[in-house]
Amino acid sequence: MGKKCMICNAEAVYAIKGTSDFYCEHCAEENFDDVSSLLRLDEAEKEKKKMDDETSYQDEEDTDEEESNSDEEE
Ligand SMILES: [Zn+2]
Repeated sequence: MGKKCMICNAEAVYAIKGTSDFYCEHCAEENFDDVSSLLRLDEAEKEKKKMDDETSYQDEEDTDEEESNSDEEE
């Protein structure tokens, strides 16, 4: 969040892997023939969120099972 293009200071969309150089979509296309070699910041965010969601979903499932088991005992 809040990453700025190092050329024009617009909101950055791309980063160079392994560096803290950030570029907006326009400057990335101007400076790199192949933007697919750059890391997309929104893709990186999505990957992180996906992992978080999967972890919390599994936790909920476990809790559900435990609850129904104790219902049967009573
Ligand atoms: Zn820019």
